[in-house]
Amino acid sequence: MWLSEYNNITMKHDYKVLDIIPVIGLGTWEMNGRDCINSVVKALDSGYRHIDTAQIYGNEKEVGRAISESGLKREDIFLTTKIATVNLTSARIKQSFSESLERLTTGYVDLLLIHWPTAAMNLEECLSTMFELKENGTVNNVGVSNFDPILFIKSISLGPVITNQVKFTPYHDEFKNMKIAKEHNKIITAYSPLGRGGIAKDIFLERIGSKYGKTASQVSLRWLIQQGNVSVIPKANNEAHQKENLDIFDFELSDEDMSDIRQLSKKHAWQ
Ligand code: NAP
Repeated sequence: MWLSEYNNITMKHDYKVLDIIPVIGLGTWEMNGRDCINSVVKALDSGYRHIDTAQIYGNEKEVGRAISESGLKREDIFLTTKIATVNLTSARIKQSFSESLERLTTGYVDLLLIHWPTAAMNLEECLSTMFELKENGTVNNVGVSNFDPILFIKSISLGPVITNQVKFTPYHDEFKNMKIAKEHNKIITAYSPLGRGGIAKDIFLERIGSKYGKTASQVSLRWLIQQGNVSVIPKANNEAHQKENLDIFDFELSDEDMSDIRQLSKKHAWQ
């Protein structure tokens, strides 16, 4: 499901979003070996079209293999990878990215992110190298990850950065980054959107979900995408989890539930 379709089909509000990133994707951190290949193939079978990997996950080869085993056309899949912190110089970005493409057995990625900012990196140099890769056609879109609001604004000022991938659940206050993203027509990609599995046990979200016939995890994902400019990338090895996480497009949280859920970030401010 692409953000544009999602907006047209399910939303009554006129959200401004970029028509680029599918609203839900599969996270692959800690998926390895044959299990990783099987999980990604199952997800693609179930309808996922957006896969999130990274150089440091050590599974780009398996993700590439899964895409090829899925039988889907490469252009039907939105593939993200991330430059590791040890590779944040112009030369290392170019070299390591070409190795990523080899492991992924693809000629391009849909989104290339700086995985984490470091004190030592030169942001202008890193982003201009990534924009060069975009010009060359091996990267369709450039983004950042784990950027605080000041660094996110700075990166937007340097060129076409489309997203900041940050840890975001109802427990997390990412509203400054959200505000920047909305003002500049960018997307926030929510990682660990299920609190690494912990959200499933949240009694408050469970109670809200029971009104809609949904689980706490589904409420979390729905609350995130219902912000209007958020894409979510839950990780799930388990096929039932994968399907459950996709099943969030047939209900809409009320305005009251949206704002009640937002209050959770105050209670969990320490996380
Ligand atoms: P997550 O998606 O919040 O949670 C994953 C955990 O939740 C797994 O244990 C999974 O179990 C379980 N789960 C999935 N669906 C469920 C459901 N419907 N009900 C109950 N449990 C469920 O955690 P994450 O892996 O940290 O984050 C997701 C992705 O974000 C990562 O895989 C990675 O791609 C990305 N990420 C990026 C960064 C960054 O620095 N940019 C950092 C962290 C993560 P099963 O696997 O058994 O199904």
